[in-house]
Amino acid sequence: MSRFFSAKYDKLTPYVPGEQPGEKQYVKLNTNENPFPPSPKAILYAREHVRSPELYSDPEGLELRRALAFLCGVRPEELVLVNGSDEVLNFAFMAFCDADHPALFPDITYGFYPVFCQLSGIPYREIPLKEDFSLDPADYIGQKGTVFIANPNAPTGKLLGTEAIESILKADPDRVVVVDEAYIDFGGVSCIPLIRKYPNLLVTQTFSKSRSMAGARLGFGVGDEALIRDLNTLRYSTNPYNVNSMTLALGLGTVLEESYTQKNCAEIIQVREKTAQALKALGFTMTDSKANFLFVRSDRIPGEELYRKLKERGILVRHFTLPRIADYNRITVGTESQMNTLLEAVKALLEEYK
Ligand code: PMP
Repeated sequence: MSRFFSAKYDKLTPYVPGEQPGEKQYVKLNTNENPFPPSPKAILYAREHVRSPELYSDPEGLELRRALAFLCGVRPEELVLVNGSDEVLNFAFMAFCDADHPALFPDITYGFYPVFCQLSGIPYREIPLKEDFSLDPADYIGQKGTVFIANPNAPTGKLLGTEAIESILKADPDRVVVVDEAYIDFGGVSCIPLIRKYPNLLVTQTFSKSRSMAGARLGFGVGDEALIRDLNTLRYSTNPYNVNSMTLALGLGTVLEESYTQKNCAEIIQVREKTAQALKALGFTMTDSKANFLFVRSDRIPGEELYRKLKERGILVRHFTLPRIADYNRITVGTESQMNTLLEAVKALLEEYK
């Protein structure tokens, strides 16, 4: 830290993203990226825009916002486009939390939530998930604060039904509930249709996972017009051109070719189930993941060791040191061929641990 760094940030521990390897070629199953390229139409549209970066991007992203709002069954005024869903989450913490509205989220969830709180000086409380990593809505009812729920959760992949989320929304209409649906397209039911019924609901989604655009950075928030206006106040106060023109074009092409996204998601779900069965047959236990990753543990190989040994064999998975989940690894679902490479490596390793 330099002597110039503001004291208000001296306790800030930044989020640690999953490794992005340099030269070495890994089978990369550590950051939940999509193994398939973006839709052909997306590439075609972006190619056009690459030629004219001299103009600022449309701060309203109107063309994409209209198309995406139509796809989601909402009005464009109920949707905001952002630079990856991390950005809209950050805005949500800034907009809807303060000393009187602390943030509430599970003890095991997306590791960025506490960082956003520290960044904005927001008090927060981590509410322990049950033994099996399930979330009991009752734990959030009667508690003061803005609720953040990743659904499906990360890194467990466990899905909460919309009725459970509705029970939290209903219990206190005077506090905001943010549902982070980064992984919803891999087997969950979105809460977006509930935004008119619950003006205190904000749903966030991303193009990083199901839409193969992690590197292009595109996310969005959906909610009551008034909530979206609040988020836009913060967006226009930081960076109105938060989504660049190439990404807007990629996004539009992707939305106009929704069947391509659907096909890839169906394939990933199928590979997920097949890989889960194969790992179970090898003695692994796991949560019932409805995301594009599996959260697995072996009773033979300790979590950290499995991560390290797989890395030595050229396969990157994600290991978290948090004591409650240190026995687990989170493995992104890639192509069938990548999963076969993983399974072969795991089989060979298990031989060593007999
Ligand atoms: N929410 C969750 C639960 C995530 O795992 C991630 C990905 N790390 C994000 C949000 C943010 O993704 P992005 O900024 O790429 O949209």
